[in-house]
Amino acid sequence: NQKVVLVTGCSSGIGLALAAHIAKDDKKRFMVYATMRNLSKGEGLVEAAGRTLGRTLEIKQLDVCDEKSIKACVESLPERRVDILISNAGMGLIGPIECQSIDEMKTVMDTNFFGLVRLLKEILPDMKRRKKGHIVVISSVMGIQGILFNDVYAASKFAVEGFCESLAVQALRFNLNISLIEPGPVITEFERKVFDEGMKTDLSNADKVTADMFTNVYLKNYKQIFETLGQTAEDIAEHTLRIITSENPPFRHQTNTLYTPMTTLKYADPSGDLPIDTFYKMVFEHDKVFSASLNFLKLLRWRSRKSFSVEKDKSN
Ligand code: NAD
Repeated sequence: NQKVVLVTGCSSGIGLALAAHIAKDDKKRFMVYATMRNLSKGEGLVEAAGRTLGRTLEIKQLDVCDEKSIKACVESLPERRVDILISNAGMGLIGPIECQSIDEMKTVMDTNFFGLVRLLKEILPDMKRRKKGHIVVISSVMGIQGILFNDVYAASKFAVEGFCESLAVQALRFNLNISLIEPGPVITEFERKVFDEGMKTDLSNADKVTADMFTNVYLKNYKQIFETLGQTAEDIAEHTLRIITSENPPFRHQTNTLYTPMTTLKYADPSGDLPIDTFYKMVFEHDKVFSASLNFLKLLRWRSRKSFSVEKDKSN
């Protein structure tokens, strides 16, 4: 009774690492269908899979932007069975919106959001019928928090999160689990591709202040953020294996504890101003970061004292 795992976007990065890591499970608990849009890009996966290829790992074609390809892939599986779906395929986009075409933005939404919707339209009804299944989505911390010049990418991940949060209530009724994995920066092809595309952005449509902000503030710090905070694809694979083998998988899981203080700002202040002010100060007023962090710590202390006094009240 091996569990059938279907992973999308396995030709590189997190998907590749995930598929290989799960297929190499010591106890051989999983049969992994590692899918990719273009089978000619399978070299890296074949190498990473090693002896698991043809045993606990099989490579299949699947383009998340093409309903027919999703259907054909699912139809080719024994009894169409998918116990664990890992929706990983995705793409990034950075830059000022006045320099991006609507078509470029639609491709991001089509891949990151509608890609997941298409997968679930094909796979969710079977899972409901079996009253068994786990849907795991590689979201991002940008699924809960917007970041400068990642407007459309963040929107696509917010869409994913809203979609899953709504479905999670229904899923519970069918005994199904949904988990959103929320990595911070991960050092993969993604980072390089997004940066290279960003460097090529035609900034002629942007005003001077915006163009300068993108080139001299955002792009300049981009590499450093990945270097200081970045995790590896293998780190994300390990976290995901823990989630799929856990007895009660959480709905949300952040992989990077260094990043958690940033996302906590959002929950700490319902007005939403605290994270926006803090990001602004981090980017434009480096010297004020210290006082912003201090304020944040004060707030956390205040909150923990408050919950402590609530606990005390309860016990009285
Ligand atoms: P990556 O570029 O190495 O991998 C993305 C994969 O998706 C590629 O193999 C690509 O070919 C595939 N893909 C794109 N369009 C597809 C389509 N239509 N059909 C099938 N496959 C398609 O980057 P990655 O970092 O491994 O990204 C994987 C996921 O992790 C994405 O959803 C991304 O948003 C998310 N993520 C990445 C980071 C990061 O910093 N790298 C951080 C948080 C979340």
